[in-house]
Amino acid sequence: PPPSGTARVRAEIDLEALRGNVRSLRARASGAALMAVVKADAYGHGAVPCALAAKEAGADWLGTATPEEALALREAGLPGRMLCWLWAPGGPWREAIAADVDVSVSDPWALREAAGAARAEGRPARIHLKADTGLGRGGCQPADWPDLVAAALAAQEEGLVRVVGLWSHFACADEPGHPATDAQLARFREMVAYAEARGVEPEVRHIANSPALLTRPDTHFDLVRAGIATYGVSPSPELGSAAGLGLRPVMRLSADLVLVKDVPGGHGVSYGHHYVTPGDTTLGLVPAGYADGIPRHASGAGPVLVAGKLRTVAGRVAMDQFVVDLGGDRPEPGSEAVLFGAGDLGEPTAEDWAQACGTIAYEIVTRIGVRVPRVYV
Ligand code: PLP
Repeated sequence: PPPSGTARVRAEIDLEALRGNVRSLRARASGAALMAVVKADAYGHGAVPCALAAKEAGADWLGTATPEEALALREAGLPGRMLCWLWAPGGPWREAIAADVDVSVSDPWALREAAGAARAEGRPARIHLKADTGLGRGGCQPADWPDLVAAALAAQEEGLVRVVGLWSHFACADEPGHPATDAQLARFREMVAYAEARGVEPEVRHIANSPALLTRPDTHFDLVRAGIATYGVSPSPELGSAAGLGLRPVMRLSADLVLVKDVPGGHGVSYGHHYVTPGDTTLGLVPAGYADGIPRHASGAGPVLVAGKLRTVAGRVAMDQFVVDLGGDRPEPGSEAVLFGAGDLGEPTAEDWAQACGTIAYEIVTRIGVRVPRVYV
């Protein structure tokens, strides 16, 4: 990627901040191993550089959603334990087994495909049986668990799989005190106990995501899976700011003003004229739009630091650009507009953008588009 300053819009990725977050999260994991979750291009931060940095800082595992994401990390030379969990029928099971990637199994079809691929590959698949303890998304329902466990043990007897993990995922861990978390934890313990009583000997039992890692030590088991916290973003407003959680934001999104011009009062701004200048003023044009992942919901709401002051997106965000009203200020074209960053220099944070757009900070960072170069600093 071009060095900082040469691109009209850029996402600077502070890998030392990421390493610091990984070290801090690992220290808070009650002795459990730490998985850095690097799916979705490391939540928009760049999978390979972030995975490398996370490993350098002591992450024990890497986690991805799709097998393709995991295989791309292996291609790039990432070593060590790796788990991927979002499979479709006909997926690259053989490639995953050959690349030493652990796979998740929630259902008999996935077990059949994993076992078939293991037979063809001549070595067992390392599988993590996933329990739906209440999320209602992936995972095996409690009623179907005995059959899945029995089938997995039968495949293990045949030497086709090794059940190395028992795992699940929380629905409401980002809302501290939510009763669903206790209910899921109790069900997880039951489902793990059932499998172990039948002879499963997992290397790792895991259920905690970032919010559970940060707030519920009783959920840490053998492995915690940290996504958003790795990137220095708070999982939810209820958990407080990233700084309050001892995390350092990794992504800083900024752009160069490409036009600064004076307009009279009463001038409509951007599509639909949803903003009308209240008086004579100066407008600044920021060359980033919804094609770059700036939510259109930020129209009239997104905060931007320009020339030392916080401004608000004036009118609608367009595909490639948006406007800020600079009031009495007249910075030079090329002056920096900071959309979000660490927040300690007066700039907004990804959490501020999430609040302005009615979404979660996960979505703000993850959707930053492919047209925005990631600049590793
Ligand atoms: N585990 C699974 C199965 C996930 O899907 C995710 C992300 O959504 C994570 C862990 C990481 O969650 P978080 O980013 O809240 O740490």
